[in-house]
Amino acid sequence: MAKTIQAIRGMNDCLPTQSPLWQKVENTVKNVISAYGYSEVRMPIVEMTHLFSRAIGEVTDVVEKEMYTFADRNGDSLTLRPEGTAGCVRSGIQNGLIYNQEQRLWYMGPMFRHERPQKGRYRQFHQCGVEVFGLNGPDIDAELIMMTARMWRELGISDYVRLELNSIGSLEARANYRTALIEFFEQHQEVLDDDAKRRMYTNPLRVLDTKNPDIQAILGDAPKLSEYLDEDSRQHFAGLCELLESAGIEYTVNERLVRGLDYYNRTVFEWITDSLGAQGTVCGGGRYDGLVEQLGGKPAPAVGFAMGLERLVLMVETLGLTKVRQSVDAYVVTAGEGTMMAGMKLAEFLREAVPGLRVMNHCGGGNFKKQFKRADKVGAAVALVLGENEVAEGTVVYKDLAGGEQETIAQADIVDKIKGLV
Ligand code: ATP
Ligand code: MG
Repeated sequence: MAKTIQAIRGMNDCLPTQSPLWQKVENTVKNVISAYGYSEVRMPIVEMTHLFSRAIGEVTDVVEKEMYTFADRNGDSLTLRPEGTAGCVRSGIQNGLIYNQEQRLWYMGPMFRHERPQKGRYRQFHQCGVEVFGLNGPDIDAELIMMTARMWRELGISDYVRLELNSIGSLEARANYRTALIEFFEQHQEVLDDDAKRRMYTNPLRVLDTKNPDIQAILGDAPKLSEYLDEDSRQHFAGLCELLESAGIEYTVNERLVRGLDYYNRTVFEWITDSLGAQGTVCGGGRYDGLVEQLGGKPAPAVGFAMGLERLVLMVETLGLTKVRQSVDAYVVTAGEGTMMAGMKLAEFLREAVPGLRVMNHCGGGNFKKQFKRADKVGAAVALVLGENEVAEGTVVYKDLAGGEQETIAQADIVDKIKGLV
């Protein structure tokens, strides 16, 4: 036998046993987004490398260490998308979607980052992202947060996530703060690790995000971003907090929250859970008012978020919150001359008469015992049994596979009987 080939580390199959839960999470999320009137956009998975380095920032974890970058056959440097915002903005500019107009968009799909695989962290993972262009005020920031809160309610995980919020101000305010931070770090060189030393001049805000406890210990004395906030950002943030309060959404302000990508300004937020161990952020987002211009478009305000679907699926799974419907409701079992086609026809009739019903016909022959075994294996709730007598009389045996009772009913009455399974 030939040697088997394995999937790439950190890139997982979604198996038939897992896909019902995935579908449930994806559909819930999509339904909530569509309840706010947003439109879907689908971007390519591969983009020019410089789109990401320009959008996300050269001195970020994603661009420095995590991108899957390769040379195309004609020498162009291409990258598997590590996130969706850059491509969404690129597409919006290229297709004239953002020019002088408002857009409320969403996307869902695989992203790629070369990280150390562990629970909740993979090399191919999936995000659902929402991006809004052309709106300035805190009202839209609040809408996005309310939308996410609704998702958690519909998924049943509201009690297990909390919202952290911050404002990182205008680009100018950040520049002033940056200078103050660099001065602070210069006075504490001895505590800094290599990463922090390298970043303190290029991207000192990212040092605030450090996981190194020694550096964390001195951060209490570091200058605070809130002291450098410009008046407009301050008002924007106050407006957002007020809206969230009247919407009944609880949050805590976390002054250290700066987010890992460079393009954010003003509002940043994260939804965090304690149910998944170290990989606690299920959703992150914020404003990025400068990005459209930075990528060559006419300046347009923008705000968005992205959530990791693996982490949501894991949460719903670990908390055991959701009953997932199996793939098959009714399994058609037949035996005898001419019954197989009668079974196929009965199934076709039911698929038409009961929208949403999942009917599977037994294929491949075999006795009743074998066929019932298959019905159990696929998780069907009922078996519909047709023998020669039933076909001749226009009846069917309806067998409840959980309880075991069975009865013979007229085929004309089966619709009423089976509707309840959907
Ligand atoms: P983290 O701090 O966990 O690395 P991040 O700040 O890099 O997250 P974002 O770039 O903001 O994450 O992406 C948004 C969301 O996508 C995250 O909150 C998380 O739920 C999910 N995510 C990010 N990276 C991964 C990954 N490698 N595997 C699975 N999910 C991920
Ligand atoms: Mg990361």
